[in-house]
Amino acid sequence: MTDLTTLTLADARKGIAAKTFTSLELTDAHLSAMEKARVLNAYILETPEQARVQAKAADAKIAKGEVAPLAGIPLGIKDLFATQGVRTTACSKILGDFKPQYESTVTSQLWRDGAVMLGKLNNDEFAMGSSNETSAFGNVVNPWRREGSDAKLVPGGSSGGSASAVAANLCFGATGTDTGGSIRQPAAFTGIVGIKPTYGRCSRWGIVAFASSLDQAGPFARNVRDTSILMRSMAGHDPKDTTSVDKPVPDYEAAVGKSVKGMRIGIPKEYRIDGMSNEIEQLWTKGADWLKAAGAELVEISLPHTKYALPAYYVVAPAEASSNLARYDGVRYGARVNGKTISEMYENTRAAGFGPEVRRRIMIGTYVLSAGYYDAYYLRAQKVRTLIKKDFEDVFAKGVNAILTPATPSAAFGIGEKGSADPIEMYLNDIFTVTVNMAGLPGIAVPAGKDKQGLPLGLQLIGRPFDEETLFSLGEVIEQAAGHFTPAKWW
Ligand code: GLN
Repeated sequence: MTDLTTLTLADARKGIAAKTFTSLELTDAHLSAMEKARVLNAYILETPEQARVQAKAADAKIAKGEVAPLAGIPLGIKDLFATQGVRTTACSKILGDFKPQYESTVTSQLWRDGAVMLGKLNNDEFAMGSSNETSAFGNVVNPWRREGSDAKLVPGGSSGGSASAVAANLCFGATGTDTGGSIRQPAAFTGIVGIKPTYGRCSRWGIVAFASSLDQAGPFARNVRDTSILMRSMAGHDPKDTTSVDKPVPDYEAAVGKSVKGMRIGIPKEYRIDGMSNEIEQLWTKGADWLKAAGAELVEISLPHTKYALPAYYVVAPAEASSNLARYDGVRYGARVNGKTISEMYENTRAAGFGPEVRRRIMIGTYVLSAGYYDAYYLRAQKVRTLIKKDFEDVFAKGVNAILTPATPSAAFGIGEKGSADPIEMYLNDIFTVTVNMAGLPGIAVPAGKDKQGLPLGLQLIGRPFDEETLFSLGEVIEQAAGHFTPAKWW
């Protein structure tokens, strides 16, 4: 019998509807794969009982002829999503064993559509990081290895557990969140597809907040079609999130395979950064050639404020984070370390509960928001943000349908290799992705090739607001040309 975990989500859906196999069989196949893959540390909590209950419920409905869009499909959930009665920690010690009384809107929509939860996935603490090395549960291991080496590599971050689990066939798809690149960068590092939707497309309600004006949830899967299927269930208006947008959710899957003839694709010259490797350069050219061969027109464009995006992001994101993280005071959630006075209790709890990267962000954030520095840093960063957004608006106004860029400046790196001496080295991973969050636009990462060490590399497509469909159509062209990327199993 074929290994059920290697199917695509679309084929699993077909097989379930045709009763070739049951959701319970699919679920059990994944649960046993997860058990054997614990060395990857992708799941920080497995929920087999709940998964089997959901799978049986899906099977019972299917037997009655009711087939929901994700009926019986096993998924993994990033630990940033609140799951009712199931431990949710954002991979921080400060949340302790917090069990939410409520379910996030995005996950409740997945369950509404029949999906099955296999467990909670590892991530960087409060989604701050690019390598999944800041998690209180330890780092995640990328299922990919360099050719001829058994050195352990990072899966990217912050949604590293999601990316690693999808790439290693430990679920058909997973949820992620992306504040500065946390879906697209790990997707690129693990050879899978990930999309950050337009700001406001998915509800943020019930997702642990990092930087509220940048955070957006999105799906990961092993191909473009599967990603589009998940996206439809995750998207939608939610009155509980005032920044969620009341627009109908399209049938994203219908965009997969649609012609891209006549589309204008922008190649931004500012993304040709100093010291960019030949491999990335070549990958980018190859991607442009594929789109051209499919009938798209390539045009050089300019996004002049690109070079300010990363510094501005590292002012805005920590500022919002410091404000969001003020709520962890030892009173309302999870962990508490007592003190002689209430202030001492706050201090002790926060000192013990937050890891070093989170503490660094809180310090930067409170500094740039402080009375004497607000205008010089925070206000100025907000102005830069407006200029970055305008760069994109100008390009789209000239008839550009989407923009093609590399997803990351390199392939996955080794665990412990980056950022310990200088955090900027780690922050540079986000160079191609943060602009998209600053402008609130949708961006998709699609695997497009391998580097000379045999590791996957991704391309990014950036779209107009609420035009995720174009990204799925263009992403499919790249996927068809580049093929699929599967890590050799060693675990
Ligand atoms: N790596 C970026 C950061 O550390 C982005 C993280 C994210 O998108 N959640 O802030």
